[in-house]
Amino acid sequence: MNTKINPGIDLSTLYKIGYGLYLLTTNDGYKDNGLIINSVCQLTSDPVRIMVTINKANYSFETIMKQKKMIINCLSEKTPFSVFERFGFASGRNTDKFKDVYPIRTKNGLVIFPEYANSYISLEVIDFVDMQTHGMFICKVTEAKVLSIDKTMTYDYYQTNVKPKKQITKKGYVCKICGYVYEGEELPEDFICPICKHPSSDFERIN
Ligand code: FE
Repeated sequence: MNTKINPGIDLSTLYKIGYGLYLLTTNDGYKDNGLIINSVCQLTSDPVRIMVTINKANYSFETIMKQKKMIINCLSEKTPFSVFERFGFASGRNTDKFKDVYPIRTKNGLVIFPEYANSYISLEVIDFVDMQTHGMFICKVTEAKVLSIDKTMTYDYYQTNVKPKKQITKKGYVCKICGYVYEGEELPEDFICPICKHPSSDFERIN
C-alpha cells in the first residue's frame, strides 16, 4: 500500500487498533522456539476459534505448517524488554531461544512461559488462509489456562513503558517496532526491517 498515492489513507490509524502482545511457542521436531506476535484474535465462541497471523519470513511459520500446533502465551505487563529482544529480534533458524530456560511442557508437548505469561492457549490448526506476505491460521483450542492475575500487555503499553527510548544521532529512518536504524536519504519502499521483518511503512524519518 502506497500512502503517497492514497492520501486518504493514514496508516497511523492502524496503531489505534488495540492489540495484545503474545509469545507464540512452537517446536520444529528438534527444539523449542518462540516468537513475539500481536495478530491473535478470537473469531467465534461456540465452537471457540482463534486466528493467528504470522509473517512467512519467520521460522515459526515453517514449523506451524509442519506441526499444525502452537501455544499462545499472553504476556503480562511485567514482561521486561529483554524478553522481546530474545524472542522478537532473533531467528529460531540460527539461535536456540529457549537455551537456559527450563522447559515446562503442556499436554500438546509444547512449552509455556509462566514467568511472564498470565495465561496460555494451546491451539491446533484447522484451516489456513494464504495472505501473500503472511499466513493466517484458524485454530481450535485444545487446552487453556490462566496462570496469574497480572494484566495483559497491550502494544500501546509496550511502546509507552517497555521499549527503551534511545537517543538517536544517526540520519535516516528508524523502525517504530524494534528501533533498527536504516542509514540513508531514501528508504526503499520494499524495504523489510532485518530485525523484526516489518515493512517500510513502520519506519519514520529521523534527523
Ligand atoms: Fe524492526
